Amino acid sequence: MRTTIKEPATIEGIGLHKGLPSKVTFRPADGATGYRFLGPAFAQPLPARLDRVSGTVRGTNITDGKNTLYTVEHLLSAAAGLGLDDLDIEISGEEPPAADGSALLFATALRKAGLREKPEQERKTLALTGQLEMSKDGIRYLARPMKDCVFIKLTYDYPHKLVGRQTIELMLTPEEYLVRVAPARTFGFSHELEALKKAGLALGGSLDNAIVIAENEVMAKGGLRFADEFARHKLLDLIGDLALTGLPLNNVYIEAERPGHAANVNFAKLLLEKAG
Ligand SMILES: [Zn+2]
Repeated sequence: MRTTIKEPATIEGIGLHKGLPSKVTFRPADGATGYRFLGPAFAQPLPARLDRVSGTVRGTNITDGKNTLYTVEHLLSAAAGLGLDDLDIEISGEEPPAADGSALLFATALRKAGLREKPEQERKTLALTGQLEMSKDGIRYLARPMKDCVFIKLTYDYPHKLVGRQTIELMLTPEEYLVRVAPARTFGFSHELEALKKAGLALGGSLDNAIVIAENEVMAKGGLRFADEFARHKLLDLIGDLALTGLPLNNVYIEAERPGHAANVNFAKLLLEKAG
């Protein structure tokens, strides 16, 4: 049985990388159409799928060949984390609102919109039969079947005295996602900010929507929400990037060490190839 939302929900704000105003309206999807973006920029609905990925630098971008949508991973993470199968996403700009840098605004809007079950539609999931592994340059992923749950163990590791090595392990359910993953905010290092802005990224970035890590200080509005907020945000990103398979995770144990968007997308491709 597939699910979508009951009522539309709208959120507004500015995009993290482009810094421009953006409005997103989530709408119920009647068909088994997965996550699709609709908007003035797109002649056809743009499916959030791996074959549409056009960039993975500091975010995951998708394209219809003409127009690009930037930084879709937090929004997709919220939809997947809450267990939604089908969702139409109307978007006015080229990037969803950054909100507070986490997926909380998306997740709470979707939760409030309510869940609608579609008993007439069959739900296909990723079905892993054996173990998969992928590793390169210290980045490592593993997936293996695990009965009746989705369990993820993620390690973030960065050589900075205020970051170090953080590991988060959780059994992914909508409730766990909402409480332990969705609120984790994106972060950046102050020494990278100037280069990012020169590259046309993080233009909307501020302490309102990101944690900034300086040499001797972690600057986070209201303080860190979790001691391991960095690892949790990487988990949020991983869930969003894996949603691009178009199939929900099911009966699986996943490990990810030092994940990033490019590697997440490659791992998602491998999962889809072996278990789709
Ligand atoms: Zn992120």
